[in-house]
Amino acid sequence: MARQITRDFRGQRVHLVGVLKGACIFLSDLIREISLETSIDFIAVSSYGKRREASGQVRVLKDLDSSIAGLNVILVEDILDTGLTLNYLLRILRQRKPKTMRVAALLDKPARRRRPVSADYVGFTIPDEFVVGYGLDYAERYRNLKDVCVLTRNHRHVH
Ligand code: 5GP
Repeated sequence: MARQITRDFRGQRVHLVGVLKGACIFLSDLIREISLETSIDFIAVSSYGKRREASGQVRVLKDLDSSIAGLNVILVEDILDTGLTLNYLLRILRQRKPKTMRVAALLDKPARRRRPVSADYVGFTIPDEFVVGYGLDYAERYRNLKDVCVLTRNHRHVH
């Protein structure tokens, strides 16, 4: 993915916007493989919940530190699921007039899509399973797992 980004933006700077918290480990690995001038910022949105999924509502918990006007923005997401989060983020970030806007997602679960959005760079397309590890959590746990793992039903309780 980093090689592709490096080819696509040859001679230019890319501004990576990580969607907290899930994308932090992926972003850290991705940016080290990009051979271009780079800069980083982060945005945090309300976390996944049954009620949010039903309402389709997303909320910004922490906004970007600086302007993205005129920049080649690459929004770095951990996983693209229903598309509600990405749909919302693209809408608010496009209003800020970036030069270009691309999406890099480590994982894509197209089976559950509810908004017509897609990522320009996808690491892995996966089936409809709940995954944790490599930055992805279940109630803040498991982010430190080195691999992306399927969380089975009998592990879905908070200790
Ligand atoms: P969407 O808005 O596309 O439905 O969901 C995006 C967000 O939901 C992701 O950034 C992630 O935080 C969360 N999410 C969706 N699917 C999974 C999953 O399988 N595992 C984990 N840990 N989070 C997920």
